[in-house]
Amino acid sequence: MLKKCPSCGGELEKKREKLICPYCNSTYDVEKSDKKSSTELLDPDLFFVDVDLNRLMEKKCTSEVMRAWKYCMDENETSKDVEEYLRKITQKDDGTAMKDVRGERIENLRGRMDPELESGERVIMLIDTTLFGKGKDFYVITDRAVRFFKKKKSMTVKFDDIIAIKINDSLNLPSFYLNESYETSISSVANSYQTLGAMLALITRLAFEYNEDRSRIRII
Ligand SMILES: [Zn+2]
Repeated sequence: MLKKCPSCGGELEKKREKLICPYCNSTYDVEKSDKKSSTELLDPDLFFVDVDLNRLMEKKCTSEVMRAWKYCMDENETSKDVEEYLRKITQKDDGTAMKDVRGERIENLRGRMDPELESGERVIMLIDTTLFGKGKDFYVITDRAVRFFKKKKSMTVKFDDIIAIKINDSLNLPSFYLNESYETSISSVANSYQTLGAMLALITRLAFEYNEDRSRIRII
C-alpha cells in the first residue's frame, strides 16, 4: 500500500477506503489487492460489530447472507458496481425488479410510490414482499433511502438515518432490521441469500456514498 503522498511526500492517512494526505489534501484509492487481504467479515472502518458473528456463521442461512454481503463489499467499489452485480444475479430472482429486469413492475407501482419520492429520486430496486408477487407490500431501494410500502402505510429510512442493522436469525429466513424495527426489515421469502447479501451491500455502500463522514453502522 502507498505510504507517502506522491505529490508532496507527506505521510498518508487511511480514511475508510481512501488514503488521504493531511498536508496537501490529495486523496488516493486503496488498491483492490490491499482490501482483499482483509479477513474481517465486515470492514471495521465502516461497521461497528456488536454481535457474535461466529455464532451467526455457524448457521447456514445467516452465514450465506453474510458471505454474500462481504463478497459484494470486497469486489465492488461503488454502489453502481453492486447495482450491476445485482442486475446479473436477480435475472432469475422473481421477487425483485430493477431497470431492465422486470422493470415494468416498478412502472406499474409508480402511482403508489411517486407521492413518497423526492424529486429526482431514482428507484434502483424493488422487492416484493407479498407471497404471490401481487405488489401490495413491497419496498424499494432508491439512491436516497429505503422506502417500505405496506397496504396503505409507508415508512422511510433515509441513508443518513441508518444507525444500526439488527440481525434476526431466529427463523430460517434471516432478516435485517434497519434501525432495529421489524417494520423496516430487509428480507424476503422469494429471494436467494446471495441476493439478500448483495442488497445489504448496496444499502450500506449507498449510505457511505450519501455521506462519507457518517458514523459507522452498528451491527447488532
Ligand atoms: Zn500530499
